[in-house]
Amino acid sequence: MAYRVQIEGGEGFAFPPEEDTLLRAALRAGVGMPHECSVGGCGACRYDLLSGEMVRLWPEAPGLSERERKRGRFLACQSRPLTDCAIKLRCTDEYRPVVPPRRREAKLEARRMLTADMAEFTLRVPGAAAFLPGQYALLYPPGATGARAYSMSNLPNEDGLWQFIIRRVPGGRGSNALFDTLDLGATLTFDGPYGHAYLREEAPREIVCVAGGSGLAPMLGIARAALGAPAPKQVHFFDGARTAGDLCGGALLAPLTGPHLNYLPVLSTPDAAWQGATGFVHEAVAHTLPAPLMQYEFYFAGPPPMIEALQTLLMVQHQVPYSQIHFDRFL
Ligand SMILES: Cc1cc2nc3c(=O)[nH]c(=O)nc-3n(C[C@H](O)[C@H](O)[C@H](O)COP(=O)(O)OP(=O)(O)OC[C@H]3O[C@@H](n4cnc5c(N)ncnc54)[C@H](O)[C@@H]3O)c2cc1C
Repeated sequence: MAYRVQIEGGEGFAFPPEEDTLLRAALRAGVGMPHECSVGGCGACRYDLLSGEMVRLWPEAPGLSERERKRGRFLACQSRPLTDCAIKLRCTDEYRPVVPPRRREAKLEARRMLTADMAEFTLRVPGAAAFLPGQYALLYPPGATGARAYSMSNLPNEDGLWQFIIRRVPGGRGSNALFDTLDLGATLTFDGPYGHAYLREEAPREIVCVAGGSGLAPMLGIARAALGAPAPKQVHFFDGARTAGDLCGGALLAPLTGPHLNYLPVLSTPDAAWQGATGFVHEAVAHTLPAPLMQYEFYFAGPPPMIEALQTLLMVQHQVPYSQIHFDRFL
């Protein structure tokens, strides 16, 4: 039986029995429910439960503090209703999905090592691969609890191919399962697309992509789309990694080399042979771009410290309007 979820002062939607979380039911119903990571880490989808009963799927999810839990707050990406419910949170059009997310079974078609700990995974999913460059999908690795978010590195296509660049995280249950226990031809549950750090094709400005580690995946998707457009915009691509052995963006972007692409690898812990840029990747952004920073459209993805450093650089130090900044924190 479907439950009815009513948002105070706003829309209502049905929660069908086969649905897994409140957030995904809302987005599939076209409701603009706020969210960012979709996997319990960021807290963007927190809400107050006004009436009815909810179950917490991951009670310790870091997106909520103990105090907030005690006050009756929930994360929409980590809860599901047990009755009809009323909830309180502010929905906005910016979160309404452009491509409605769908849950399907995906087949692992190929896995190709790019560096010692990063691989390109190619999944085949029934139907066209419909998403916006820069978005992510949720994968349910075998044996891990919950979903993991991974960004698409390829372009939308009719063949149903979704490509990801995934880093093996030491001790991580999900990423290690994808490397070690998922054989070619095996299936896993897939849900997507999600995310709003996607390419704004209509924006007139030159594009800056900043990738930290496996944040390369969505930046590649954005660069591939921007450079493949009939009237390509200039793309300034900053590829941040620890050592030269961790870099693979240059090779993947090589087919797009030309006057519209400036590719700059930046190493934080280079070995003696490295002759390129060094330091943190956000510092290279500050020192390298020729025009004032507020003249660019910024996209970035990577670990939270890099995201925070770039936010401070762009918004606090250079007054780049928030509408020109699009990012995903890899929590
Ligand atoms: C928007 C976004 C895009 C991302 N894109 C990429 C990418 O392109 N490439 C890449 O390599 N990484 C990406 N990541 C990081 C990726 O999602 C994983 O966090 C990373 O692979 C580590 O996962 P793990 O399972 O190995 O580690 P673990 O430590 O086992 O798990 C970490 C993640 O799993 C979730 N989790 C843990 N326990 C539970 C539980 N009990 N129930 C529910 N959820 C749980 C948490 O949200 C946490 O983020 C992205 C993250 C986000 C938020």
